[in-house]
Amino acid sequence: MNLKTFTAAALLAASSAWAQTPATAPPVPVTPPSPAELLKPAPNSSWSAFSVRGSDVIELAPGLYTFRYQGTRNIFMVTKDGVIASDPINTEAAKLLRAEIRKVTDKPVKYVVYSHNHWDHAPGGQIFKDEGAKFISHKNCVAHFKDKPNPDIVMPDITFEKTYAVKLGGRKLDLIYLGVNHGDCLIFMQPDTEGGKYLFGVDIATPGGAPLTYIPVYDLHNWLRTLKELEAMNFSVLIPGHGVPIADKSSLNERRRYMEALMAAVKKAIDEGMPGNEIPDKVRVPEFAYLRGYETNIRDNVRRIQTYYGIGE
Ligand SMILES: [Zn+2]
Repeated sequence: MNLKTFTAAALLAASSAWAQTPATAPPVPVTPPSPAELLKPAPNSSWSAFSVRGSDVIELAPGLYTFRYQGTRNIFMVTKDGVIASDPINTEAAKLLRAEIRKVTDKPVKYVVYSHNHWDHAPGGQIFKDEGAKFISHKNCVAHFKDKPNPDIVMPDITFEKTYAVKLGGRKLDLIYLGVNHGDCLIFMQPDTEGGKYLFGVDIATPGGAPLTYIPVYDLHNWLRTLKELEAMNFSVLIPGHGVPIADKSSLNERRRYMEALMAAVKKAIDEGMPGNEIPDKVRVPEFAYLRGYETNIRDNVRRIQTYYGIGE
């Protein structure tokens, strides 16, 4: 466990007490929680996945780490021949990430894997390109990178369609594409650690919380299909791209049940002839009111679903 980089603020952010405590605690090294402690469900609160400050690293298992920069996180694997990293996040985060990696190994970063094309995950990789890393993404990300050029995003060297195995130093990181869901180039990353126990799944669910307000870029029925496919996959711990370091796999099921219930409620209101302008204020799924951000996000979640039923997208 990387004690030096684990701060009190990070501990709070990862434990059941974090939500009520401002993320301004001084960076005092503390004993980090065990993965089992981290799995405790996040409480209902107004905490936002994007409001946490600072950065930290947690070693989840031998050679498998998660790095957090503010509200965004990635994973990296340390092998005897080098490091497999993922989303650089941005230039400042990537500098911090590289410094953290240097604390645990002097081997170079050999690969950087993009979870998808979005600017809150993909930029900042030049520092790893400079040390010779190869960049990997789903092939569909390339068109996005060209369509909306971002000078801080390093173009991928390797792309793939369905699956790809990143092999280094006797370790393996499986990359899995499940089709359109959150955009069209999101991939899931499954390290070989502990028999494939962990899955790094970005932006497919925010454990303990309601979806972002307008549910941007999500193809709703394909999102539900993807969640079902993930639920059927063989792993037990989700490492999300925002928020808590790890969550039980059941958080995927919770997200799917929320969306299914809300979609059914919106469809019912439409079918019963409720005026469209009344639906966002009237349609609710009170059984999910415990989710963080429910009150803030529900109206926009409903509006997004109205659009879905209106135009089929
Ligand atoms: Zn995204």
